[in-house]
Amino acid sequence: MAETAYQPAWTVIDLGALEHNCREVARRVGTGVKVIASIKADAYGHGAVACARRLAQAGCFALATGDVAEAAAMRDAGIRTPILVFGSFLPQDVPYLLARDLIPTVYNFETAEAVSRAAKVPAPVYVKVDCGLGRLGVALDDAGIFVRRIASLPHLQVAGLYTHIPFFDDASRARTEARLPAFEALADSLARGGIGPLVTQALASSAVLTGLKDQCNAVCVGHILYGLSSMAQGQADMSAFRPVLREIGSHLIHVAHHPAGRDVAIGGHYGIANAMVTGVLPVGAQHGMRGAAPRRTAEVLIRGRRAKVMSVTLEHTTLDLTGIDSPRVGEKVLVLGGDGPARIALEDVAAWQGRPPLEAAMTFSKRLPVREI
Ligand SMILES: *Cc1c(COP(=O)(O)O)cnc(C)c1O
Repeated sequence: MAETAYQPAWTVIDLGALEHNCREVARRVGTGVKVIASIKADAYGHGAVACARRLAQAGCFALATGDVAEAAAMRDAGIRTPILVFGSFLPQDVPYLLARDLIPTVYNFETAEAVSRAAKVPAPVYVKVDCGLGRLGVALDDAGIFVRRIASLPHLQVAGLYTHIPFFDDASRARTEARLPAFEALADSLARGGIGPLVTQALASSAVLTGLKDQCNAVCVGHILYGLSSMAQGQADMSAFRPVLREIGSHLIHVAHHPAGRDVAIGGHYGIANAMVTGVLPVGAQHGMRGAAPRRTAEVLIRGRRAKVMSVTLEHTTLDLTGIDSPRVGEKVLVLGGDGPARIALEDVAAWQGRPPLEAAMTFSKRLPVREI
């Protein structure tokens, strides 16, 4: 991009924080437990290729995504780490996956047969087991027979066995804990039957955050790598993990001084009584900016001080800058970021928007130029 390229707004992605978080996960799970990094959904909105490259450098055992195109983009970017594809493909897509050295997840016989047909030498696959989430996976009760059946196919090697039993509070954590022994018993019985060695994985971010351990030899984490909590608000100590989405910023393109009584209409506020100063950012709904939920007020930071968001339209955000000393066109404004007490966290933005932090982060993804630090 040319040096002078017009950038109405930007996001800053902190790859150092990503690496720190990855090492913190590895430290918590201990040696002997592999870390599989979930980079699905464009690395939870943080940019899959850049994040994957750094996670691979940081020593992740494998990367995982549900999106075949995203997985292929990793290979095109020269990333050589093993990549597990969670699902979201048809048996007819299997040759495409194998040609790119991607590891398919298998949970039906049609896909397993497609792997064995397409591969010249036994191709590694992971089997996903449904331990009660009711989404993708072979039902736990049928999994033993299924794995033995597909393991006998000529060009297929069962290399991993995983399940996903996410939880977000104490009650759902207890449910997950109750389901783990059956999965561990399945892995044990397959190992005793000579299938493997298998990579086995059941636990994700919430387990690492709350110290839940199991007998598997891998974890697969997403949320905490990006500094996001997978637990309900206030249910986990996130202080050891750093936010990867560090900053969303823009510049004032306009400042307007409205005298008392002037009839202006900004975001549904008609006919202002007092004199006020407004400022405009060239970032709007099209860039992922969102207004506040009913009865909430969104804020931004200018010179380390908070200013209220008055309206968000398709291309612009209008701010109430009354009380800021002589705001100037061109001044930097932070929608997210900053330091110390003058900091707007993703959690603040999410609370104003009335949705989870991950959703707030995802909204901005791919809409703004990214600076990596
Ligand atoms: C997304 C996903 C994970 C990671 O979950 P987090 O809560 O983000 O850590 C693990 N396993 C599977 C199968 C997933 O789809």
